[in-house]
Parts: sequence; C-alpha cells; structure tokens
Amino acid sequence: MRRWNGWGEEDVVYPLPKEALGFLVAELGESAPAPSVPAEGIPVPFPRLPDHPGVAYDPKARLVRARGQSFADLAALRFGEVHSVPDGVAFPVCSSDIAELLEWARGADAQVIPYGGGTSVTGGVNPVENGKPVLTLSLERMQALLELDQKSHLASFEAGVQGPWLEAQLRANGFTLGHFPQSFAYSSLGGWVVTHSSGQESLGYGRIADMFQGGRMITPAGRLDLPPHPASAAGAELKHVVLGSEGCFGVLTEAVVRVRPLPEEQTFVGALLPGFEAGLEAARELIQARVPLCMLRLSDAFETRVSFLLANLGRFGGLANRALRFRMPKGEQRCLLLYGAAGRRSDVAKVLQEAAAVVRTHKGIGLGRVPGKSWQKSRFRLPYLRNALWEVGYGVDTLETATAYSKLLPTYRAVMKAMQGALATDNGRVYAMAHLSHGYETGASLYFTFFFRLADGFEETIACWRTIKHASIQAILGQKATLTHHHGVGADHLSYMTEEKGEAGLSLLRSLKATLDPTGMLNPGKLIAR
Ligand SMILES: Cc1cc2nc3c(=O)[nH]c(=O)nc-3n(C[C@H](O)[C@H](O)[C@H](O)COP(=O)(O)OP(=O)(O)OC[C@H]3O[C@@H](n4cnc5c(N)ncnc54)[C@H](O)[C@@H]3O)c2cc1C
Repeated sequence: MRRWNGWGEEDVVYPLPKEALGFLVAELGESAPAPSVPAEGIPVPFPRLPDHPGVAYDPKARLVRARGQSFADLAALRFGEVHSVPDGVAFPVCSSDIAELLEWARGADAQVIPYGGGTSVTGGVNPVENGKPVLTLSLERMQALLELDQKSHLASFEAGVQGPWLEAQLRANGFTLGHFPQSFAYSSLGGWVVTHSSGQESLGYGRIADMFQGGRMITPAGRLDLPPHPASAAGAELKHVVLGSEGCFGVLTEAVVRVRPLPEEQTFVGALLPGFEAGLEAARELIQARVPLCMLRLSDAFETRVSFLLANLGRFGGLANRALRFRMPKGEQRCLLLYGAAGRRSDVAKVLQEAAAVVRTHKGIGLGRVPGKSWQKSRFRLPYLRNALWEVGYGVDTLETATAYSKLLPTYRAVMKAMQGALATDNGRVYAMAHLSHGYETGASLYFTFFFRLADGFEETIACWRTIKHASIQAILGQKATLTHHHGVGADHLSYMTEEKGEAGLSLLRSLKATLDPTGMLNPGKLIAR
C-alpha cells in the first residue's frame, strides 16, 4: 500500500547508510528524530459539498489526496499541520463523467483540483482555501491503452495511466514511451503533460512535450480535441495550451503520445571528470556533436561525494580510488559523469566508444559499467531516502532551472552560493549539490539538491526551507535562467511568475484561463494569480 505521509510503498524502506549519516552529522551537525503524527491525529473537517453518488467523503480518502510530495507537504503531513483538505474525491472513469462532475461542481460553487499521481513538488494538488468547497478529481481509474497505431508509432491512453502500467501495456506490444521521471512509480501521463515533465532519458527520447501529439481536454467551457497531426501550419499550436496548464485550464482525459520500438540493449557507464567546468564542456560537446546518447548526467563534486557514499560500491570504490589517486590528483574536484545509449546491440557499443573518446579529450577517466549499473539500481529508489532522512531529523529538497551553455557556470555558482549561505544568519548550515541533466543544443538543465537540519517545530522548519528556496530562486532569476525546467509552477512558484513571464505574458495566460474556465473553478491559486 502507498504511504500516506511520505514517498513510496509502506513496506519498502531504504535506510540511510551509516557513512551517509556520519557525513550529514559532520556537515550539518547532530539532529534529533522528527515527529510522525498518525493519520488519526489529523482533524479532517466535515465536508462542505452536497451528496453525489460518485464522490467519496470519508476522511482517509480526502486526507491522502490533500498534499503532493514537496518538502513542505511532507513536513505538513508529518507534523500533522494539514489545514486544507478536499471536501470530496471523485473517481471518474471516462471523459463524460468528468464533464458531468465539472457541471455538478459549478452548481455547487466548488473548486476542482485535477489529480493524477499526486507527485507534484510545487503544491499543485493542494487545496488553496478561498472559502469554496473543494472537489479533487482523481484520474486513477482511467489507465487504459485506447489505441496503438504501430505503423505510425502513436499510442492513445487515458490520461490517468501511471508510469509502470503505461510501460507494461506498451512493452507487451514491443514499444516504449521512454519517459522515466524519478517519480515514474506513481506519476501519470496527464500529470506529465500538464507539468511539462522531463524524464531521465530525455536526451534520447525527448521531453514529454516532444512525445505529446494530441488528445482531449475537458474544460468548463467545453471540449478541446487535439488530433495528432505530425505537423500543422493551421495557426497557433494548441497543444501548447495543454502543456504546462497544471489543471488550471481543463482536465486532460486522453493523450496521444509518440512511442518507439523497445531497444535491443540499453547500457549506462560512468566516467570521472577533473572538475565541474571540464565536465560541462564535455557534456556540451557530446550534446552539440549529437552523439546519440539516451541519457547524460554530470554531478558536481559535492554530489559525486554523496553518490559514492550512497552507492556502496564496495571493493570497486576502493580500487577505483586507488587507481585514480595517480591519474586525477585533485580528488575533491572529481565529478561523476553518467551516460548511456539504447538501441541495437552493435550501435550501442559504437555510441559508447564515440562518447568515451570525447570524454578523454576533456581529461575524463572511464569507470566502466559499475557506476551505470548502480545508478540503474537506485534510480527509482532514491526518493525513499526522503523518509529515512526525515526520521533522523534532516530535510532534503530539490529545485531546478535551465539556461544557455554560456550561462550555465555562472548560474551554477550563483545558486550554490545562495543555497550554501541561505541560513548563515541563523547559524544554520546547508549542504548543497547539483547536476546537469536534460541537455539541448543550446543549453541544459541544472538540478540542485539541498540538505538541512530540521528545526524544532513545523513553522520553524518551513521557515528554514522557504529561506533556502527563496534565496536560490532569486539567484536563478538574477541570472535570467528559468524559474523551473520541469517541476512546474503550482502554488509554490506562483509569486515568481511576473518575473518569469512579464506582465504581457501573464495577461495572455489570464485571458486563456478566462476563456476556458470563466468562473475560475479549476485549481485556483496555482500557475497564475487572478
Ligand atoms: C521523488 C520525485 C521525483 C520526481 N522526479 C521528476 C522527474 O524526474 N521529472 C519530472 O518532470 N518531474 C519529476 N517530479 C515531479 C512530478 O512527478 C511531476 O511534476 C509529474 O509530472 C506530476 O505528475 P502527477 O501525475 O503526479 O501529477 P499530480 O501531482 O497529480 O498533479 C500535478 C499538476 O497537474 C495537474 N493534473 C494532473 N493530472 C491532470 C490531468 N489529467 N488534467 C489536468 N491537470 C492535471 C494537477 O492539478 C496539478 O496541478 C518528481 C517528483 C517527486 C516527488
């Protein structure tokens, strides 16, 4: 069963390795175990919605869909500080159910929150109190593959389909979507599309925006059908109204996506680069030279240390370290580069050789398949560490941006400085680390992770988190990088949208909202302020 107040399945634990805990204590100071209030300890108010046969009103169904998976959500659930809960949860099974529920909610003067897998890290599924009752519309019963056009490589799915079931249905027919966000276990196709998601293999398969070919969105103003034309010059591309709409313009009920034949082989390998700057140049060259890799991820020296601590590479780690002492003396600057190729067996080997040659010209040292295998093993398990860290009194959160190659290094430096110094006035310490991922011809995404000690109470803990996040976002925007590359806006990033889009841009988004959702019933308090 899925954990209601943290990541993952209740019976799966990923304990923090002893060395990693020692490392945190050394970096951040000792911490005390944090609270975990039981579900029964959280008051759920009496529902304000009228009766509807398709709506569940029981407190547990409402509580488990009251928050997403951001650090603030975890803190609220664990401290028992959940002050807004949906008044009811509906489980539609088709587009016409959704149209009927929207009509009913309009009659009840309710707000409606579309809910996919509930893995939003920006407060995207959290009710924002505006005096109106809240209906959460969960698409978890809409998971079917509707059509697979093998000739055209097009698959049409109900939008509530979650990662593992989507891939299982495609794999049974010899295809894959190739979209693997770290939240793959629970996040849904609809959620991916409306948040502009990017998977770990975006270099080979593209972002969800490249995969999304069309579909159906039910809006309070009517139905928007988007046929999957391979290309069209008939005016502005309406798919872009759906991409990034975050449940504020309509409910995506079906999505047509481009799929690819399953690769014969997929191999991931590792290399060490002498510093982040050298690594960035290697990554840029690999991407701009179009070496056909499916994945590339370059960790800075801080993340490399943590990756080696967590990977538990045993004998391999020791041997690699001894060998590298002579070939790369500045141990503290070592940066781990992971990359992979997918396709026909003979092509995969050639691609990896081509990439290794580029890495060597940047003084990189190949580590072979062991780090790649270790990454593959832990790629979807790492989020469990969020629970383990909480339990020993530490918080962890992430934020991300994207910018042009010429601005990557200054942006990296500015954000790291802001993060590391954010709590300095309160004598608090932050351990920050970053990686480059999701590369494009003109630039790439930078993904930052920060660790800090939890404070004594909810308010104090949230204040620390907010201070670090705000300082980091100010640094991002100060460098003219984007507010977010793939996490989206939700409620948490709303206040930065004027700086991101400008007044004219925001007013365009507001007029789209006013056309598709004239009464503002869909997901208020997210994406754009009224
Ligand atoms: C541990 C972890 C790792 C993550 N890794 C990644 C990653 O690698 N890449 C990445 O891109 N993101 C990642 N995320 C963020 C998150 O998984 C994505 O934003 C994801 O796309 C959300 O999908 P979901 O189905 O869970 O959406 P939800 O959380 O349910 O909803 C997100 C937003 O979309 C709206 N929405 C959902 N479904 C629909 C629909 N059918 N129609 C209209 N609106 C809808 C909601 O109202 C909300 O505003 C991660 C999150 C976590 C917790």
